[in-house]
Amino acid sequence: MNFTLSEEHSMIRKMVRDFAEKEVAPSAAERDEEERFDSGIFHKMAELGLTGIPWPEAYGGIGSDYLAYCVAIEELSRVCASTGVTLSAHTSLASWPIYAFGTEEQKKKYLKPLAQGKKIGAYALTEPGSGSDAASLKTTAHRDGASFVLNGSKVFITNGGVADLYIVFAKAEEGMTAFIVEKQFNGFSTGKKEKKMGIRSSPTTEIIFDNCRVPVENVLGEIGSGFKIAMKTLDGGRNGIAAQAVGIAQGALDAALSYARERRQFGKPIMANQGISFKLADMATSVEAARLLTYQAAWLESEGLPYGKASAMSKLMAGDTAMYVTTEAVQIFGGYGYTKDYPVERFMRDAKITQIYEGTQEIQRLVISRFLST
Ligand SMILES: Cc1cc2nc3c(=O)[nH]c(=O)nc-3n(C[C@H](O)[C@H](O)[C@H](O)COP(=O)(O)OP(=O)(O)OC[C@H]3O[C@@H](n4cnc5c(N)ncnc54)[C@H](O)[C@@H]3O)c2cc1C
Repeated sequence: MNFTLSEEHSMIRKMVRDFAEKEVAPSAAERDEEERFDSGIFHKMAELGLTGIPWPEAYGGIGSDYLAYCVAIEELSRVCASTGVTLSAHTSLASWPIYAFGTEEQKKKYLKPLAQGKKIGAYALTEPGSGSDAASLKTTAHRDGASFVLNGSKVFITNGGVADLYIVFAKAEEGMTAFIVEKQFNGFSTGKKEKKMGIRSSPTTEIIFDNCRVPVENVLGEIGSGFKIAMKTLDGGRNGIAAQAVGIAQGALDAALSYARERRQFGKPIMANQGISFKLADMATSVEAARLLTYQAAWLESEGLPYGKASAMSKLMAGDTAMYVTTEAVQIFGGYGYTKDYPVERFMRDAKITQIYEGTQEIQRLVISRFLST
């Protein structure tokens, strides 16, 4: 057993940290305030190869693995969780299912431009009446000659409106089916954009299918196998969200630590109080534990070993850690932590979503308990 990152993984961490600090961090607070997605940041990530980390070079990727991908998401989220989730949804939720279930033609036509960052991807499963109970979705797909005709709507779609391609789940006669939908297909449109508590520079929108015609060759995997594809996709996606949560927690810990060393009360730095230094010790320990679970799940996936239980555990642990650590970070900053003069209030707002999307914490417990009882 070896707990050190390889040279390749360490290089990727350094490269992404440099990029995150120079190109992402300076505008993070402003983009959050203005709820503004910055396509320029996405294009710069593409130039660095970050939009295709785990995919083979033949499909436009850089031929690395899921651990490298998690390290990248962590480093981006350490300064801007919105940028972290943009890349996470693009990679885990849109590109992965094409890589895992797509035909050779679909990989060339769709995975390659996604991996190269020439196109942005999204994943559309959730509907107004169907969240945790994804199997109850209502969007329909009726076969009509060489096409399927989709009707219905999806809500809370990350990268909604800015994505070029959507992995869409709809009910066909044979059961739930996955489709690759291009934004320019007739009958596809973007609806309401959500105003959110956190990850505000990541657009989250409704998408609408009004007799949207999708060619049969854009069915992903077998007709009727959509539920399996949706769930398998979330298994890996969860680990990306765990990495996002670890990054948010690390960002908050770093900020709280440097503030505690500087801020003086009662004639000494607040760090000199055991009440504060023990808080920081607990926070640092939790971040490290969450990181280890996250890297373990990513390693299992990279090695081709079962990772469903590990990724549910990593997301559960890391999401709760992010919420706990960011809340304590605000506490360490006192009144200043409650203002927008420091990044910890943004980290705290951003942390909350990691307990909700890609399966709430309650659903992670359901997944884990099923593994325990089989
Ligand atoms: C910012 C944001 C981005 C998102 N991005 C995407 C995306 O890109 N694509 C996409 O498809 N979806 C996306 N989602 C949707 C997200 O995955 C769902 O919101 C989430 O799965 C929960 O579904 P719900 O909101 O309908 O809550 P519900 O399922 O209605 O749950 C409400 C509450 O009940 C609990 N609950 C439900 N069932 C059970 C149960 N069996 N046992 C115990 N507790 C239960 C839940 O844990 C929760 O606390 C996003 C959501 C947000 C807010």
